[in-house]
Amino acid sequence: MFKRRKQQMVYCDECGGRFKLRPQVEKIKDDIERVHFVCKHCKHDYTAYYTNNYIKQKQKEIREVGMRDIKKRMEIEKEIKAEMNNLRRKYE
Ligand SMILES: [Zn+2]
Repeated sequence: MFKRRKQQMVYCDECGGRFKLRPQVEKIKDDIERVHFVCKHCKHDYTAYYTNNYIKQKQKEIREVGMRDIKKRMEIEKEIKAEMNNLRRKYE
C-alpha cells in the first residue's frame, strides 16, 4: 500500500465535473492578487479570494496570536474578511 497525497476534490457548479482543487495566484495590480482555480472540464474560472499586503500582514498577525487570544484572533479575522470583500467588490 502506498499513501496518496490528499488533494481536495470539488464539483464544478457549471458542468458538474469533478476536479482537483489547485489554487493559482494571479497578479491584478500593485500588491493585489487574485487566488483562483479553473475547472479542468469546462475551464470555468472560480475566484477563491482576493488578497493584498494588508491581508497578508493580518494573516501573519493571526499566526503570531495563534490560539492564545481568541478574541484578538476573531477581531483580525473580521478585518481580513472586510478587506477581502472590499477587494472583491472592486475587482470582480
Ligand atoms: Zn466545469
